[in-house]
Amino acid sequence: MTDTPHASAGAAAERPAHHHFIHDEIDADLAQGKHGGRVQTRFPPEPNGYLHLGHAKAICLNFGLARKYGGKCNLRFDDTTPTKENQEYVDSIQEDVRWLGFEWDALFFASDFFEELYQYAEHLIRTGVAYVCDLNADQVAEYRGSLDKPGRPSPYRERSPEESLALFRRMRAGEFPDGARTLRAKIDINSPNPNLRDPVLYRIMHAHHHRTGDKWCIYPMYDFAHGQCDALEAITHSICTLEFEIHRPLYKWLLQHLPVPHHPRQIEFARLNVTYTVLSKRKLLELVQTGIVSGWDDPRMPTLRGIRRRGYTPEAMRAFCDQIGVARFNSTVDRVVLENAIRDDLNKRALRAMAVLDPLLVTIENLPEGHVEWIDAVNNPEDPASGTRKLPFTKRIFIDRDDFREDPPKKYFRLSPGKEVRLRYAYCITCKEVKRDAEGRITELVCVYDPATANGTTGDGRKVKGIVHWVSADQAFEAKLRLYDHLFSAEFPDDVPEGVDWKSNLNPGSLVTLEHAKLEPSLRNAPSGAHYQFERVGYFYVDPKDSHPGAPVFHRTVTLRDSWAKIEKRGEE
Ligand code: ATP
Ligand code: MG
Repeated sequence: MTDTPHASAGAAAERPAHHHFIHDEIDADLAQGKHGGRVQTRFPPEPNGYLHLGHAKAICLNFGLARKYGGKCNLRFDDTTPTKENQEYVDSIQEDVRWLGFEWDALFFASDFFEELYQYAEHLIRTGVAYVCDLNADQVAEYRGSLDKPGRPSPYRERSPEESLALFRRMRAGEFPDGARTLRAKIDINSPNPNLRDPVLYRIMHAHHHRTGDKWCIYPMYDFAHGQCDALEAITHSICTLEFEIHRPLYKWLLQHLPVPHHPRQIEFARLNVTYTVLSKRKLLELVQTGIVSGWDDPRMPTLRGIRRRGYTPEAMRAFCDQIGVARFNSTVDRVVLENAIRDDLNKRALRAMAVLDPLLVTIENLPEGHVEWIDAVNNPEDPASGTRKLPFTKRIFIDRDDFREDPPKKYFRLSPGKEVRLRYAYCITCKEVKRDAEGRITELVCVYDPATANGTTGDGRKVKGIVHWVSADQAFEAKLRLYDHLFSAEFPDDVPEGVDWKSNLNPGSLVTLEHAKLEPSLRNAPSGAHYQFERVGYFYVDPKDSHPGAPVFHRTVTLRDSWAKIEKRGEE
């Protein structure tokens, strides 16, 4: 089947969200009649990169809360650092949120509120709780001290409101160079919380903004913009990740000191981390810029475009986000959990097909030249409505080299000399002879088939345990298959000793391209964006980017749950 990216919009409530602590918090607020019984959340990305799996968690959480409580969820771009942001990111983020199956109630940009934020800043100055400071960034840091070093007041801290106001207006008017002055809140220079040691609220930055152009040369800091935008949008619950917990006192302080129309509440939850990958826009950008991956949509990337191009579905992503839950302690989710989510989804929807990755020719001695029997194969046993298709059974077929052993270990139920296996959907064959080339490499197996073994029977009641997949050698076509593995070979790629590059953990085998896989003929017309289960091999996706009509390129989305190699290791097959 093919993806219809927007068909699922609004349908994301297919299963009830697992209960988590934020539900308790909101229930308590509602019980106390806070916010007039409203629930309004927002997803607030900075448009400085492409969304990744971590953002999917935040999106599912914020939109999920709105849905659960019959509330609203906005999309807000936190676009307060113009030098790192652009329209390309804005567009891709909207596309990715919709791909996940969510539609925002309102779309905002922090830059929509630059004038209001500026007026709020003047209000703080006039009321004596903010001042223009002439220290440069290094000096500000120096004066603020650190956790174990007391802060010292800026020499400009006692500047009169009138003087600060005049200077702030001149900052806006562009009279000073970048970094020459800042606006700082006057809170507590010795607070145990460094965020309250007179935090910077505005900085001078003569930079072109992708939406406001050259109108501004001072830009609000994240902490100043975020809460006030929440308030202006009438957000009730501002959900963010745990690293902002230490910012919460400042969030509250600003709301208390400003004439804002609403008082939203900040609640923090744990970021998503997943093994064998990194989830940071900065690091992902580095992978793109250094050419380690082919782009933001490289199927090995944990970006939403990457996993989408690999064949992950929005349904699987939502199920994954629901399953991992929402907690207040940081942890790392095993990549297997993500893989199982996509397997569960594709098992239901993917059409089955036959593909032989490493072909070994099998000649069926007792079939005449030119023989073709069209054999019924089930398209998807999980979905009776998907029907059947016909596979050509011919004198020459291919099986996977892996499915033959000349010296089979015990409990090896696939093909070996003198042994019998069933060809999936077709007959049983017995291996009579092994042919080799001059170097001794096996080039062909000569087999006989038993015509009495159609439809899964053996006629005489004998048991044939092994089943192998196959394609007609005469009618198969060759296609390019890309097999993906983890991008990093280390479970925690970020976890490197000081001075070691985190990129040193790259997995050299993360992409293997097969040029000569043999596929059943019906796959020649596999549509772009279609999902298949190549039986006994894995789930594959027709790459929408590199495929051409009649020449599909397949990505392996994920292997089957138990790869055959693993089964073999356990000796259980
Ligand atoms: P990165 O560290 O990758 O740059 P970020 O937090 O700077 O991410 P934003 O664009 O600011 O990215 O994030 C938008 C929202 O997504 C924020 O509310 C942020 O808390 C949330 N978010 C980002 N990364 C994760 C993650 N790994 N798990 C859960 N939520 C996340
Ligand atoms: Mg950020």
